[in-house]
Amino acid sequence: MSDTPALLPVDEARARILGLCTPLPTEWVPGDDALGRALAEDVRARRTLPPWDNSAMDGYAVRARDLAGPLPVRLTVGETVFAGRRPTREVVPGTCARIMTGAPLPPGADAVVMRERTRAVPDAPDAVEILEAVVPGNFIRPRGEDAKEGDVLLRRGTPLGIPELGLLWAQGQGTVPVPRRPRVAVLSTGDELCRVDEPPGDGIVDVNAPALALAVRRAGGVPTLLGIARDTREAVQEALSRVEGFDVVLTSAGVSVGDHDFVKDALEALGVEQRFWRVAIKPGKPLVVGQRGHTLFMGLPGNPTSSLVTFELFVRPALRRLQGLEDVEPPRVSGRLDGRLSKAPGLAHFVRVTATWRAGELWAKPLGTQTSGALRSAAAATHLLHFPYDSSSLTDGSHVELLPLSWVA
Ligand code: AMP
Ligand code: MG
Repeated sequence: MSDTPALLPVDEARARILGLCTPLPTEWVPGDDALGRALAEDVRARRTLPPWDNSAMDGYAVRARDLAGPLPVRLTVGETVFAGRRPTREVVPGTCARIMTGAPLPPGADAVVMRERTRAVPDAPDAVEILEAVVPGNFIRPRGEDAKEGDVLLRRGTPLGIPELGLLWAQGQGTVPVPRRPRVAVLSTGDELCRVDEPPGDGIVDVNAPALALAVRRAGGVPTLLGIARDTREAVQEALSRVEGFDVVLTSAGVSVGDHDFVKDALEALGVEQRFWRVAIKPGKPLVVGQRGHTLFMGLPGNPTSSLVTFELFVRPALRRLQGLEDVEPPRVSGRLDGRLSKAPGLAHFVRVTATWRAGELWAKPLGTQTSGALRSAAAATHLLHFPYDSSSLTDGSHVELLPLSWVA
């Protein structure tokens, strides 16, 4: 009998991880530091916007009823209203006001005729000829169209994109309440590892730490590199004992069943409760997840591509949930397989592909070397193709699920 526990399906593993994550405490930050983060509270409108009915066009503010007769209709121009100024006169029958985009509508007017539908009258500079009839409300942006004071403008959990921040700025709100960014410690483990700036000798350059740090930053977290721990129980344990104040601790390598794989032992010795180990997935099977207090520990596999794939499928959603985002599942799009794939059932494969748009569909072509160590195919990939765990073959043209990668340039 095997003493290794059953492999967890991918979705179940992610659901368990998300179950360990609740949004971090709120901080108020300037809007431009809130991009991509989630609102920690509902935000209500402080201002009604637009504050008055105003013109959507450069043209003439008219009374629609004046244009009911035969066209063109000649009107007397009372004044010109610019954006940022207030009208001073009422538009009475037979008159109009020249008006610029964004300028408040003068009293009496109920529609705007765009300038292109009018004609100057050569011998009468105070008059204009209107060439078309319009209905009341034509080219008017009504008061309160965008926001009414007191309305909930954006709900808690809303991801803040550029227009959302625009909405808040338009309200005169320069700072925004968001859960603080997760603090993430990143530790590499392995006797063979050296830093990129060291003479390599027989060593393998530590790619995971800097790559994961970038992935953390791109997912909104704040990474701190803990360096490289050698393959002894003591070294890994010592490095992992220095994680006070971190929300998430990421390690790479040393989580398989090798003789020098000490990460699980070290976590246990430090009182981290293991939540699960091993997921039915390739690449990335040996993932281990644990928790101590509020700190989440995720032991990622050592192969650089495996660690990036598990980051994408498990760590990024966790970091996003800690930042209060609700919709944190990896995004998916549907596509077709350009080629054929086969495997034994039992593991879900996430195949590196390049996907291109052809004849109205996204066609995904698997990249050459798919071994966990190969970074070349990770570099060229635009998506991961989900080859379900119970399936053993996908024929040319199969409909497939594709995950756009967050790690691309
Ligand atoms: P392990 O999980 O320790 O068996 O490592 C699996 C493979 O990943 C080995 O070939 C390691 O040399 C390689 N590896 C582990 N950590 C890193 C790292 N930080 N950067 C690059 N390769 C690594
Ligand atoms: Mg190792």
